Amino acid sequence: MPDKMAKLSFWGVRGSIPTVDQATWRYGGNTPCLELVAPDGTLFILDCGTGLRLLGNRWAETYGEKAPEAHIFVTHYHWDHIQGIPFFAPLYAQQNHFHFYSFRSEFLGRDSLKQVFETQMAHPYFPVDLSAMSAGREFTEVSGGDQFEIGATRITTRWLNHPQGCLGFRFETSTGTVVYATDNEPGVPQLDQNLRDLAAGADIFINDAQYLPEQLATTRKGWGHSCWPEGVKVAEAAGARNLVLFHHDPDSSDKTVDNILRDAREKFPAVWAAAEGMVMSLGEKRLEVVMPAARAGLRREARFHARVIGYTQEGRVFEEDTVIRDLTLQGALIYLSHSPRLQSELEVMLEAPGDQGHKDSHLRLRGYVVRLEPGPEKDQTTVGVVFTE
Ligand SMILES: [Zn+2]
Ligand SMILES: [Zn+2]
Repeated sequence: MPDKMAKLSFWGVRGSIPTVDQATWRYGGNTPCLELVAPDGTLFILDCGTGLRLLGNRWAETYGEKAPEAHIFVTHYHWDHIQGIPFFAPLYAQQNHFHFYSFRSEFLGRDSLKQVFETQMAHPYFPVDLSAMSAGREFTEVSGGDQFEIGATRITTRWLNHPQGCLGFRFETSTGTVVYATDNEPGVPQLDQNLRDLAAGADIFINDAQYLPEQLATTRKGWGHSCWPEGVKVAEAAGARNLVLFHHDPDSSDKTVDNILRDAREKFPAVWAAAEGMVMSLGEKRLEVVMPAARAGLRREARFHARVIGYTQEGRVFEEDTVIRDLTLQGALIYLSHSPRLQSELEVMLEAPGDQGHKDSHLRLRGYVVRLEPGPEKDQTTVGVVFTE
């Protein structure tokens, strides 16, 4: 029997506003929404950005008309964290039931999140009103410094530094701790301490990494966000094991996020860049990270000899000759005896068919490892790569 794990799925990772431009496809354009399934089966949703719509659709495929009961945590009321609510299909079915947790906003007063629901769906902003939302909804007010249990998971909350307030959440499950701390700007000592408290010894520490360090120091100062060196600093100070860079700026292309990730990994090896569809499973002694099938275009079966240069899980460079059997204009599936690291760079030199040996006929492509699976043969890995140049 496989051991029980906490499973964390990323449905939306983009900050501020959804993006649909192609330059942001690989990491994804939906705004924050995470799904955490605790080892005891308790279901949590963290934030209700536009990624929530996809989660609702997936649930319909998985569970049919009766959605599972879930505990939904909203960090704050900025658009990018609530915009998915009216598009979460399970809210429109009477047999469903959800528990919402969020703080009392000084601008809204009592029942803040309830008011957000009503306002979001008020005329003339939305075609149907709140009465169409027939699922049972319970609202619980939480505040910074709270601690409580849901199922076998202990939840701790802390205030973060963000305009109009934002809560960070720590989820301690039986197989490990996940900390969700987005929308936070460093620089207020007490709130910086809050972040370190939340992140203490976390297995997965998800942190705001919206800006480049130079932006945070100048034009974006005071906007309520952070950058990767701050995340690394907190992860190191708090003894967090894995850092996930989150809330990517809408103006950051995939290439920009690649560069941020590369810089961050030089300082702190266990860094990941949150990507839509990424799933992190946390067992007692291990973390598994998988990515979805690359959103590549038409696949073509092929047979190209190729030399592949990449980095192993341990960060060593490897070189291997292989045959590529599945190719698109955006990427390829490659079978390797090496297991490269997810989100690491990979160089692929393709040889045109029939041209073996002719040095000039090489096509040199560089890309990122976006998918790892056991290969068709023993001791083989199927590696999905998206080409970036
Ligand atoms: Zn945000
Ligand atoms: Zn915000």
